Amino acid sequence: MQAMNYKIDQFDKEHLWHPYTSTTNPLPVYKVTRASGCTITLDDGTELIEGMSSWWCAVHGYNHPVLNRALEEQAGRMSHVMFGGLTHEPAVELGKLLLGLVPPSMQKIFYADSGSVAVEVALKMAVQYWYALGHPEKSNFVTICSGYHGDTWNAMSVCDPVTGMHSIFGSALPVRYFVPQPQSRFHDEWDERDMLPLRRLLEEHHDELAGLILEPVVQGAGGMYFYHPEYLRQAAELCREHGLLLIFDEIATGFGRTGKLFAWEHAGVEPDIMCIGKALTGGYMTLSAVLTSDKVADTISDNYPNAFMHGPTFMGNPLACAVAKASTELLLASGWQENVKRIERQLMRELAPARELPGVADVRVLGAIGVIEVKEPVNMAYMQRRFVEEGVWIRPFGRLVYAMPPFIISPEQLTRLTSALLKVVGEL
Ligand code: PMP
Repeated sequence: MQAMNYKIDQFDKEHLWHPYTSTTNPLPVYKVTRASGCTITLDDGTELIEGMSSWWCAVHGYNHPVLNRALEEQAGRMSHVMFGGLTHEPAVELGKLLLGLVPPSMQKIFYADSGSVAVEVALKMAVQYWYALGHPEKSNFVTICSGYHGDTWNAMSVCDPVTGMHSIFGSALPVRYFVPQPQSRFHDEWDERDMLPLRRLLEEHHDELAGLILEPVVQGAGGMYFYHPEYLRQAAELCREHGLLLIFDEIATGFGRTGKLFAWEHAGVEPDIMCIGKALTGGYMTLSAVLTSDKVADTISDNYPNAFMHGPTFMGNPLACAVAKASTELLLASGWQENVKRIERQLMRELAPARELPGVADVRVLGAIGVIEVKEPVNMAYMQRRFVEEGVWIRPFGRLVYAMPPFIISPEQLTRLTSALLKVVGEL
């Protein structure tokens, strides 16, 4: 397979903007003709083993007959109706299923369009909660550095201030409070000192803070970093003490990826508001949900303007809800926990030799996430091509080369992924 000779569609190159790219000097793109199971097929017939789950989503792999059927059957009934004034079985049935899986205090569900929109909705909920209680001044947020919560305005404002585009959007962005990420790693000893920055900040600024937003345990696109669950327990305590709502962004961590169905379970800490998305539909289409407690929802609803002020056009889209229900049921019936454990063990074993490579700074694994942190930022286009030449789909960024495969990946396919990772990183 000659990746360099790969014919890139001219229209794509001239007219389509891809994520985080330039139009004048676009990164190469590879043309996919189909994807099935754990395999992505390019238009020259090259087959790639999928290592990214299409950015955390495709936990069952591609072209799954159960999910296809759910979508087709729902399309035969109705693809969409507005959610204002109407409801339908897919939204209700998905809701019932989700309530059994999330923290028990989560009792109200707000469907939204994407992960970023879910974060916007969660932040609005927190602000409207304090407004309802007569505290409009409690409207700002605190978070930890190296987080990532999406690319829309307010989501971006709580992304890492250095890597999260703040310097570009500068004064246009609301200014949030940031404290250092906890230094205690997931598998290490807990260090009490990790709590000091948040404690100090809340003591000083709680009057103006609506909430604390965190990706529980795994920080994804901001650094693929796994921190100690004790941080969540103590952060929840501090939020209670100082009157902040705790928001968990489980958009990336949800649906089994970290070894628990949702990452809050690592700490046993229930948030006040929780965002889910990505693998919710098994990667079939965009859908997210914001869940919250009766306390938050009732407070918003019982006070002026007696409604939560958000309502996207495609809210509760029946196609998305139907496929989300099918995907979640499939996950629960699939023995996902065993699969994720198996993937975790294999990633730990097969990525360990990377620690000896000269270009490698760190190797870490949690659940079905394997990360090789290298010492210098990678040349993404070059490395991407090398991975395609090795027959795998891995998309590194910055100093992070990582795999988070579909849970259905076979041990042989996973070995091909890890071998390619070792080989290509070994060339650095
Ligand atoms: N939160 C987290 C933790 C994410 O990883 C992402 C997506 N990478 C988002 C929010 C934003 O989701 P979306 O891309 O669907 O808007």
